[in-house]
Amino acid sequence: MNILVTGGAGYIGSHTCIALLEAGHSVIIADNLCNSKREMIGKIMDIADKEVTFYEIDVSSAEAVNIIFENYKVDGIIHFAGLKAVGESVEKPLNYYYNNIVSTMVLAKVCQKYGVNRLVFSSSATVYGNNKVPFVETMDLLPTTNPYGETKAISERILTDIAIANPAYSVSLLRYFNPVGAHESGLIGEAPNGIPNNLMPYVTQVAKGKLEKLRIFGNDYPTVDGTGVRDYIHVVDLAEGHVAALENLTEGVHVYNLGTGKGTSVLELVKAFEEANAIEVPYEIVDRRPGDIASCYADASKAKRELGWTAKRDLLSMCRDAWQFEKKYKE
Ligand code: NAD
Ligand code: UDP
Repeated sequence: MNILVTGGAGYIGSHTCIALLEAGHSVIIADNLCNSKREMIGKIMDIADKEVTFYEIDVSSAEAVNIIFENYKVDGIIHFAGLKAVGESVEKPLNYYYNNIVSTMVLAKVCQKYGVNRLVFSSSATVYGNNKVPFVETMDLLPTTNPYGETKAISERILTDIAIANPAYSVSLLRYFNPVGAHESGLIGEAPNGIPNNLMPYVTQVAKGKLEKLRIFGNDYPTVDGTGVRDYIHVVDLAEGHVAALENLTEGVHVYNLGTGKGTSVLELVKAFEEANAIEVPYEIVDRRPGDIASCYADASKAKRELGWTAKRDLLSMCRDAWQFEKKYKE
C-alpha cells in the first residue's frame, strides 16, 4: 500500500516508516520539521535501504495536503503529526488545539475528497485520566489535566463521529503507553530539544554526563516502591503495532492499547538501565510533579487478540537501545 505518514520525521513516525518499508509498503512522509530534522529522512532510507517521498508541509494546511493526493494514490494514512509537550500545552493551549485538531480535521476532509478510507491515529493513554489500572479500551475516558490530552480525546471523538456517519471509513485509534528505546542501529532515536521532560531521555543524558542527576518525582505513591509506575514500550514494538493495525484495518472504529501490559516503577527502570549498560545513574528524590498519576499501564490483550500483535522487546533491550542511541547521538 502507499501510506502517507504525517509526522514521519519524528520519533515514533521514523521508526514506523522503517517498519512499513520492511513490510513492503511505500511511504510518503509529510512533516513540517517543527520538532524533527531533515536528516531523519536520509537515515530512514539508509536503514531500510529503500526510497521514501518527503513533503515538508504543515498538515493543518488543506492546500498543502491536497497536493500530495493530487500526485499520489494514497491507500492509507498514519497520522502522527502533532505537538506533544504536556507542559507547553498548558502555556500555549491555542497552539496545541489548533495544530493537533485542525490537522486531524484537514486530513479527514482530504480523505473524504479523495475517497481514502483508511486512517490510523496516534492517541495516548493520557485519555484514560485517573481510571483504575490496568486501562482497558472499553473504559469511559476521564477528563485529562492538560490541553495536550484534550486534543487527543477530541481528535478521537471527531474521527469516531466521521466513521459512524460513513460506513466505509476504517479508523484505528491507537493509545500508546510510554514509548522508549531506539532502533537497534543506534542511528535514530529520541532526541528532545532542550532539557527532556520524559524519564528515559533524562536518564540517558544523566548517564552521558550532560545532566548532573535524575530527579525522581515522588516516592510516596501507592506503588511497589512509592515511585510512579508506567508501561514502557520499545519504540520498534510500537512501530510494528502500527503496521499490524494498518494491515488488519476493517470498516468502523477500532481502539487499541499499544503497551506491554506490565508496569515498571521509576526506581525499577533506573536499576534496569544501570544493569543493562553497566553504568551508574545518580538520582535524588524530589516532590511529586503536578499532574502526575501514580500508575498507568495497559490491558494489552485486545491488540493481541485482534491484531495478532504483542510487544516482544523487554525492559533491558529498551534501556540498551536508548543508551546506544544516546552515545552515538551528537547535537
Ligand atoms: P515527535 O515530536 O518526535 O514527532 C511528531 C512529528 O510531527 C515531528 O516530526 C513534527 O515536526 C511533526 N509535526 C507536528 N505538527 C505538524 C504539522 N502541523 N504538520 C506537519 N508536521 C507536524 O513526537 P512522537 O513522540 O514521535 O509522537 C508522535 C505522535 O504520537 C504525536 O501525535 C504524539 O502526540 C503521539 N504520542 C506520543 C507519545 C510519546 O510519549 N512520545 C505518547 C503518546 C502519543
Ligand atoms: N519522572 C521522574 N523524573 C523525570 C521524569 C519523569 O521521576 O525527570 C517520572 C514521572 O513522575 C513518571 C515517570 O517518570 O512517574 C514517567 O514520566 P514521563 O514524563 O516519562 O511519562 P508520563 O508521566 O507522561 O507517563
